[in-house]
Amino acid sequence: MRGFAMLGIGKTGWIEKQAPECGPLDAICKPLAIAPCTSDVHTVWAGALGDRHDMILGHEAIGEVVEAGSLVKDFKPGDKVIIPAITPDWNSLEAQGGYSMHSGGMLSGWKFSNFKDGVFGELFHVNDADGNLALLPSGMDLASASMLCDMVPTGFHGVELADVQFGDTVVVIGIGPVGLMAVAGAALRGASRIYAVGSRPNCIQIAKEYGATEIVNYREGDIVEQIMEKTHGKGVDRIVIAGGDVDTFDQAIRMLKPGGRIGNVNYLGEGDYIKIPRVEWGCGMGHKTIAGGLMPGGRLRMEKLASLIETGKLDTSKLITHTFHGFDKVEEALMLMKDKPKDLIKPVVLI
Ligand code: NDP
Ligand code: ZN
Repeated sequence: MRGFAMLGIGKTGWIEKQAPECGPLDAICKPLAIAPCTSDVHTVWAGALGDRHDMILGHEAIGEVVEAGSLVKDFKPGDKVIIPAITPDWNSLEAQGGYSMHSGGMLSGWKFSNFKDGVFGELFHVNDADGNLALLPSGMDLASASMLCDMVPTGFHGVELADVQFGDTVVVIGIGPVGLMAVAGAALRGASRIYAVGSRPNCIQIAKEYGATEIVNYREGDIVEQIMEKTHGKGVDRIVIAGGDVDTFDQAIRMLKPGGRIGNVNYLGEGDYIKIPRVEWGCGMGHKTIAGGLMPGGRLRMEKLASLIETGKLDTSKLITHTFHGFDKVEEALMLMKDKPKDLIKPVVLI
């Protein structure tokens, strides 16, 4: 079978591979809609996970079950399914401990395009099918549904990590597709003022539609100064980081109130250390918490998040700015994600 792969750090191309084999608890799927992710860009061009050779990329897919293992109870060939980017081993001790995304070791719930071939192949393997697949609700638009695989759960996880409460003031740093979903999630959780940090005009427009009350452009001045001015020197209750780099944490600590929480979902592709400003961290006593996490995957989360689209509480179609038709277009879509033209939020390939 064909797949679009990372050939080595900084190198991609089409390769031929053997079709994956289906274990008794697994499923083999073919993609119906796939989306490239900024994480694919970090993985290939920053080499953030280390070197990988001939590994098929991609972890965001709506698919059709082609084969279901003999012990799979709830799915059969022909079912259309949402496949989360993170597919934990649900019987692992880490999952029992509440950290399914780290099943088998740190970040090991993230298997596609990390430890095994991803979804940019003509066929791909899903472990623990009953625990990780969710039926696509009938009539749901494939492109909108594909945002459930990673963009919605990651943005929302940032909001969970920051523990946003009713009436909280929140800064969302980065309003690409992940940050935009953090804005939407913070609004759903009852945040009052939501300050969205970004610069691309269409992201700014969509951020307002998802509930941002004010925009802070990081290219037009120091974001700490801008936020402190807007909050009359007090700072905010919660911060979600969905963009920036290792230096963003320093800024976040400076604009956070004592007792505040930072939820980071940004994948830090470069840099060895994160610096915490001593004085603004209350000399170690400021009760300013930093929580960073890979989003939880799995079936239940996919079903619950899909129900937000079904009930009209969340519209993910606004994220999709570029739609391609045909499996071969995955290369073009990924390059678009790498080059990030100004009008891009998220590309989707329909197959
Ligand atoms: P984008 O590149 O589309 O968006 C990044 C955002 O950050 C943009 O709004 C950009 O602004 C802004 N930004 C860039 N530099 C700075 C800066 N110095 N200060 C403030 N804002 C800045 O990324 P995505 O939304 O696709 O993904 C966001 C991150 O989430 C990525 O690192 C991705 O790998 C990660 N991710 C993590 C997952 C997880 O489970 N934890 C899963 C999926 C993704 P501008 O408007 O100028 O472009
Ligand atoms: Zn992703």
